[in-house]
Amino acid sequence: MTDTRYIGRFAPSPTGPLHRGSLIAALASWLDARAAGGEWRLRIDDVDRGRARVSAARDIRAALEALGLEWDGPVQVQDARRDHYQAALERLQASGDAYPCACTRREVAAGGEAGPAGIIYPGTCRDGLPAGREARSWRFRVPDGPLGFEDRRLGPQSLVPAAVIGDFVIRRGDGLHAYHLAMVVDDAALGVTDVVRGADLLPATPPQMLLRSALSLPQPRHLHVPVATDPQGRKLSKTNAAPPVDTRRAGAAVADALAFLGHPPPADLADAPPAMLLEWAVGHWQSGAIARDGLASGLQHPQYR
Ligand code: GLU
Repeated sequence: MTDTRYIGRFAPSPTGPLHRGSLIAALASWLDARAAGGEWRLRIDDVDRGRARVSAARDIRAALEALGLEWDGPVQVQDARRDHYQAALERLQASGDAYPCACTRREVAAGGEAGPAGIIYPGTCRDGLPAGREARSWRFRVPDGPLGFEDRRLGPQSLVPAAVIGDFVIRRGDGLHAYHLAMVVDDAALGVTDVVRGADLLPATPPQMLLRSALSLPQPRHLHVPVATDPQGRKLSKTNAAPPVDTRRAGAAVADALAFLGHPPPADLADAPPAMLLEWAVGHWQSGAIARDGLASGLQHPQYR
């Protein structure tokens, strides 16, 4: 990967502190970028105003600093970029790739089947709003036909988005732009070439790819890394109150995340500070060493094969 510029990023949603699962995603993307001699950018994914907490964004930044995961350039903050999302929405409206939808969540849930990324929209408003109904949200008109992409760990992925995802919301009923739209606009503005993140976000990739195609934005490479779970097998997340990474034991936290990613540090680095561990890891990073099987194969949905 010496012939092209590499730009990676970490894009946490500031809904709670950095936990083991988010550290693993941050470390994987940091290492992949640094080993390629690339840039690593930080974005605070606070497009969802109701869920974002200022203190969480601050805590995440402080934790990354304590762990030695330095980022390049200014931090991108979604809350400051709403005009860009609106401009992208207007492009999609103008091209007919977006249409207004009157359906409530309840109506969609009642009429749609469950898919890997949520309920598949039954298409009620696709050809126009039903008589007497007003637009609540805007949806992306998912094109017919198959979509394929290569994940650097999971290999070729293919699906028929219209059948397994359906038309998804890009501007919500509460007026906020939806995450997929914000994310593709932001990643393109940063010039992201490589999305490295947890395999729980694999189902987000097809809708994001479709939006990029419709907006003529370049597609990045994808690497979805295994997702850490708690002893009950649940994904670690802020929602299930995963404990924050203990930055007083930053070296141990980095060593644990490295081991999870298939790069256990050598014994002589057992008590090393983060900077030494990271230096070793940049020199030894091989994305192919990340586990591929079992839990490590991510939360793949059968319909993706
Ligand atoms: N903000 C998303 C999250 O924290 C991650 C987005 C991404 O890496 O694409 O789950």
